[in-house]
Amino acid sequence: MSNHIELEQASLLTDLKCPECGTIHDAAVINTVCINCASTLFARYDLHTGISKDILLGRPATMWRYREFLPVIDEKNIVTLGEGFTPILPVKNLKKFTGDNEVFWKDESGNPTGSFKARGISAAVSKAKELGIQAIATPTAGNAGGALAAYAASAGVKAIVYMPKQTPKVFKDECHLYGAELVEIDGNISDCGKLVNEHALLNNWFQVSTLKEPYRLEGKKTMGYEIAEQFNWQLPDVILYPTGGGTGLIGIWKAFDEMEQLGWIDSKRPRMVTVQSESCDGIVKAFHGGQTVSEFADGGFTIANGLRVPKPYADKVILKVLRESNGTAITISDDEMSSALKEIAKNEGMLMAPEGAALWQAYKKLKATKWIQPGEKVLLINTGSGYKYLENIM
Ligand SMILES: *Cc1c(COP(=O)(O)O)cnc(C)c1O
Ligand SMILES: [Zn+2]
Repeated sequence: MSNHIELEQASLLTDLKCPECGTIHDAAVINTVCINCASTLFARYDLHTGISKDILLGRPATMWRYREFLPVIDEKNIVTLGEGFTPILPVKNLKKFTGDNEVFWKDESGNPTGSFKARGISAAVSKAKELGIQAIATPTAGNAGGALAAYAASAGVKAIVYMPKQTPKVFKDECHLYGAELVEIDGNISDCGKLVNEHALLNNWFQVSTLKEPYRLEGKKTMGYEIAEQFNWQLPDVILYPTGGGTGLIGIWKAFDEMEQLGWIDSKRPRMVTVQSESCDGIVKAFHGGQTVSEFADGGFTIANGLRVPKPYADKVILKVLRESNGTAITISDDEMSSALKEIAKNEGMLMAPEGAALWQAYKKLKATKWIQPGEKVLLINTGSGYKYLENIM
């Protein structure tokens, strides 16, 4: 029966809007960034239709359960490997550190290809397929490349992945296994980005570089819908997020806005916290320095390759979300990440990506300074599996 209802529901996508200059873009054609000011574009939906959250009852446990608020018009274009609707797990055996806070993990490690990149890439590849795109390229610190390679294989389109040479071998192997073309670069993800730009233009490839196309954001946004649904529509007080390009942070915030417009949640919002590696601390510096944009910051290698983003393309939006939410920003060192990862593995039975483990250390610090108050409910987003990182951890 529920299948019948599902078929009648469709995407409520209306258009794309530039959050900087307000220009509206047609969502029925291929878009990258704003044609006027080069800002990231935000997809908009018709949210005033009185749609009830009961539509979710009986839907499959993937991010596509929210498909009215995802950009794919024709269901047959959805490229899914079962991503999303990941569990929320309470901190259990490490409770001696959390006192009277309720602390939870949203555990993204079980996603296809072992990270939450699957969400964004599932949405972007699906929409690319709908728009007739044949070849998709991306710069990556590791996880986005693996996800693109897998979803492109499933969609039957070509994937070209640009990755720093220093990335652990497993990230390269998975690209090869999924049939992608892998280009290794002697440099960081910014260097990869420059080359993808040039080569994509020459070869007529579509680029899904972080926040330079509108739909990876839509996929990652589904974490926000899930957080609300899984906490029974009562958002936590604080959310900690390991920030690379910032897609997840911006996406979660966008989801909260949409759900408020739908009448699914009230106006109460969590305080959002960016956690960066000491190696790439541009957002932390800009946040505490009162700037609206960040400076290029690259201190070299970090075990958290997902956090080695020297200057996020949407730095302005990240900083805006942190300030609007009364949030903050904090850095964690590789040593701290490594010992947090081991502590969590040994005590909780969860092997996290260092990006996720960093949040545990950040949580302890913010609690010690009383930025996190007694009694507050805290959510830590473990963005990926630790299994792909063992080469650098052991
Ligand atoms: C990409 C990545 C991040 C950073 O995500 P953004 O949305 O780009 O900020 C964090 N953790 C892991 C494991 C990643 O792969
Ligand atoms: Zn614009």
